[in-house]
Amino acid sequence: MSHYHEKSLTELSRLLHAGDISSVELTDAYLSRIKQHDAVLNSFITVVGDQAMQQAAEADKVLRSGGAGPLTGVPIAHKDIFCTQGIKTSCGSKMLDSFISPYDATVVSRFKQTGAIVLGKTNMDEFAMGSSNETSYYGPVKNPWDIGTVPGGSSGGSAAAVAARLTPAATGTDTGGSIRQPAALCGITGLKPTYGLVSRYGMIAFASSLDQGGPMAQSAEDCALLLSTMAGFDEKDSTSIETSIPDYSIGLENPIEGLRIGLPKEYFDEGLDDNVRQVIQSALDRYRELGAELVDIALPNSGLSVPVYYVVAPAECSANLSRFDGVRYGYRCDEPRDLFDLYTRSRGEGFGAEVKRRIMVGTYALSAGYYDAYYLKAQQLRHLISDDFKRAFEQVDVIMGPASPEPAFKLGEKAEDPISMYLSDIYTIAVNLAGVPGMSVPVGFADNKPVGLQIIGNYFDESRLLNVAHKYQQSTDWHRQIPEDFN
Ligand code: GLN
Repeated sequence: MSHYHEKSLTELSRLLHAGDISSVELTDAYLSRIKQHDAVLNSFITVVGDQAMQQAAEADKVLRSGGAGPLTGVPIAHKDIFCTQGIKTSCGSKMLDSFISPYDATVVSRFKQTGAIVLGKTNMDEFAMGSSNETSYYGPVKNPWDIGTVPGGSSGGSAAAVAARLTPAATGTDTGGSIRQPAALCGITGLKPTYGLVSRYGMIAFASSLDQGGPMAQSAEDCALLLSTMAGFDEKDSTSIETSIPDYSIGLENPIEGLRIGLPKEYFDEGLDDNVRQVIQSALDRYRELGAELVDIALPNSGLSVPVYYVVAPAECSANLSRFDGVRYGYRCDEPRDLFDLYTRSRGEGFGAEVKRRIMVGTYALSAGYYDAYYLKAQQLRHLISDDFKRAFEQVDVIMGPASPEPAFKLGEKAEDPISMYLSDIYTIAVNLAGVPGMSVPVGFADNKPVGLQIIGNYFDESRLLNVAHKYQQSTDWHRQIPEDFN
């Protein structure tokens, strides 16, 4: 049995370039692991084995001819929110269960151009709405560290697949925490970039002013490699930002002596699990040993972030999801009586309960007479939240705290209680409202379950985030741990 799965994406890339392994061998090894383990985890919605093997054979030719890039021949997986030409793109919903995308998302085509191999599409909460992956039409994903618990969400399939080493890396999206929270709960490294850095073209829209795609992998070093491919201006996305993209792998080794780390008191409040607090504290101690300075700060409007988000995100989703009307593509009900019946039954039957809840909340918040009271107000408060970060970054270089208030919770534990589910993102949501970048890095275990340290940076400071995470990972091995049953 090969042990490729113990290697990181960066190491695999080196082995491929050195000719020590072929992409065909590697891809085959990962496809076998998926076959062996995914019946338990349910982390993939679609696996494209034959296509992956063909791509791998092509990649091997490129590798042998010397024209390869760092990701040529490396297998990855895409969250099923990214449109993939000729491959089912379900967004975790019955609504798109039979949808084969006619085009690739920009993120997908960028990976294609570099010669990365796509193993398949990962499971997710329906339309990325959720924190536990339990709202998926395809059933819940299990956390490989304890299959009685959730992997987090909405990018739960990507996180579980990387944690169980069924793929070296995966893409994810983060609207309110959906890269960072599942990364934390599954013990992997995930990065939500600055809003506008990664193209949203072909990434099925949930809340357009918050959605952002990013990498999920074992380490910061791996994320740097992936982000260098994902990031960049795209004329097909009007919110994409024209800025020069550095090579994120350069600068990983920069010393972090004198780094000023802000600790917001709101992120260490009584809502934080005590075991998680201790693990976060020891990670912060490690940073101090590495030469960083810890500074107490305040993000006084943090308390507003969950209520503001649950007005803004549903409002935007109610507009975005109006395109699923049973007419052009997606689910259509049987034998509609008339147009109205077609709309209402197609949507009624095609969407799950959480999606419907959000559409109703959003439609209400946007309706005449309520718009000023809810949506406008929420947008005003959003400015206050952004200003908190602006002020903080005048004082410190990065902000740290927990990514999630608790480790992985039991399947079903919060499924019937939307408010307690919404609170899973209490430490991540403000980052999306402000548009700044944030990461989660594995820093230990509480109750035998992984804990993620959140690192938040100023706009476009991804290089620094990756550097700060990498220095920690060089001196620890939490990111190298593999759940026992998947080793
Ligand atoms: N858990 C949050 C929600 O349910 C965030 C989801 C996300 O980031 N896509 O909306």
